[in-house]
Formats: sequence, structure tokens, C-alpha cells
Amino acid sequence: MTDQKSDPSAEQPAATNKDAQGFQRPAAEQDIEVDIFEGVRQADGNPVEPVRLKSSDSFCFSCHKSISCWNRCCHGADVTLTPADILMLTKKLGLEPEEFLAKYTVPAIWEKSDMPVAKLRTDDTDESDACVFLAGDEGCGVYDARPATCRYYPMGLASIKMMGAEQKDDFYFLVKESHCQGHAEDKSQTVAQFRAEQQVEALDEINRGWIDIMMKMTSWRSVGGPHAKEVSRQAKKMFFMVSTDVGAFRRFVFETRFLDTYAIDPIVVETLKIDDIALLQLGFDWLKNVLFNEPTINMKEDVLQAAIARGRAEMGAT
Ligand code: SF4
Ligand code: SF4
Repeated sequence: MTDQKSDPSAEQPAATNKDAQGFQRPAAEQDIEVDIFEGVRQADGNPVEPVRLKSSDSFCFSCHKSISCWNRCCHGADVTLTPADILMLTKKLGLEPEEFLAKYTVPAIWEKSDMPVAKLRTDDTDESDACVFLAGDEGCGVYDARPATCRYYPMGLASIKMMGAEQKDDFYFLVKESHCQGHAEDKSQTVAQFRAEQQVEALDEINRGWIDIMMKMTSWRSVGGPHAKEVSRQAKKMFFMVSTDVGAFRRFVFETRFLDTYAIDPIVVETLKIDDIALLQLGFDWLKNVLFNEPTINMKEDVLQAAIARGRAEMGAT
């Protein structure tokens, strides 16, 4: 995935609100609502309950090994892997991301944002369409490292950002598919209790930058892309690398001119050598800067001045 020879500054737009051709970027500001984890397994009508839930709202649901539908939701599952999922699964399986991706995932496009993602493979050797990690009656073979979509199921997570608002708001919804008998159980819990039990808070935190980018790309798509044109293949490739292969991104940071280009505190640089989560956060900050010109990472002063001079020369300014 990595272009070891690429020059990070080549991805970096000039430090103005204009693109390389000098066009002012269009405003992407609008109300935007994106389902992040939807978890719908099959298209039997519309199983998504049209009710927005807050953390304090309650619902009845329970899933356990003696339920009649045990494992049904692990067949035909459409599981997009988040960066945090891949970190957990590679650690559990003792695999390098590249090996994990080749063995257990298929590349796909996240339709709303048009950005590349990795999805879990299903067993294509028979009709069962079972998830590659389903371990027969035992259930999920990677349970303690199962992806966020599986933890959330049968709940969905959506993010909404209203025009002019600084922050996004999350809300939740229930997915009631006919095969899932867990909704008939009488265990009542709040959304917050369910999320705590499923240990999704920490994952959501790690994925926050990735979710931000997915939301913004969804929004930008409706106005024609960050430069009023399609996002480049190279930018999508970089997004996929950061999101799915932290090892490749580490090589990109340490084996190209990245650290000559960006001003990163030496203590942070040392942390990035060993801390995958810190590296992911840097990756999301860098992508936000490259894709949306957000001030999430600073160029070194000499590189910045050279980029400004280049931009002025290209526009014919003196
Ligand atoms: S990862 Fe586990 S919980 Fe998720 S679909 Fe596969 S077997 Fe089921
Ligand atoms: S109750 Fe729902 S979530 Fe649990 S095994 Fe059955 S289908 Fe899956």
C-alpha cells in the first residue's frame, strides 16, 4: 500500500483556502447525518427503528448462547472494519496488518463517503455466508477482539452535525431484524449500559478521527469534493493505508521526508515509534490537513514558505 518514495509535501495543498489552481474551495457546510455502524444483515424490509435514542434511553434486549437464533447474525454480516478493529484483531491473531488484510478482508468502498475500506470476509466455500471468524456453536472466534459493528449490533450509531455547529452529536437507533430473537428478551438496559457492556467507548475514541473524515467526505461529496473535484486516487490510497495498516503508515512517517516536512515534537516522534494509537491519531490529523486543509498538523516554517512561494509563482504572482 505504501509509496515509499512519495514526498509528503506533494500531498500538501498550499496553506491558503485556495487549491493549487487558485480556485476558492466551496463551502461544505450543511446539515449532515451519517450512519457509522448500521449492522443490518439482510434486506428484509426496513429493520431500522425510526427512533433516535440517547445514552439514557432504555430498550429490551439480550443475547446468549441458548437463544434460538444463536449465531444467525454472523451469517451474511456486512462488517466494515474500523482502524481500531484492525489494531485489536491483528494483535489478537499475531498478524501484521498486511497479512491480516489479505487473509480475512476484502477491499470495498464505503458508499456514502466514496472512501476505501476493508470488510470482513465471509466463507465463500458454501451457501452459509458465515463470517470467517465464526467458530461453530462456540460463536465468535475472536470475541474479545470483535469489531465495533458486531459489538454495537443490534444497535446502530449515527453522527449528526448541524450547519454552523462546532461539534457533532451522536445518536443511536435499534436494528430489529426478523431473525434476531434478542429483542423479545426482557432484559432492560440503557444505551449507556449496553455500550459499557460491549466496551465500545474506547473503540469509538480511537476511531473518532476516522469517523470525522468519513462524515466530512460524505458532506463534501454532495458539493463535489474538497477541491470541487473528485478526491485523488493517491489521497484515497493514503486514507486506506492509515485506516488499515499502521505498520505501513509508520514506515511512511519514518522512511520518507514526512518528518522533514512537518513540525512534530521530538518527544511525540519517539512515541510514534511504538504507540500505534498515537500514530493513528497523527494519520487522521495529517489526512484532515491534506483533504480539507484543516490546521491539524503544521508544516515546518521553511517548507511552508517554499510552498507559498511555489503557489504564488504558479499563479503568476510576483
Ligand atoms: S467477527 Fe465475530 S461477532 Fe462479528 S460477525 Fe464475525 S463471528 Fe460474528
Ligand atoms: S439474539 Fe440477535 S444478536 Fe444474539 S445471536 Fe441472535 S441474532 Fe445474533
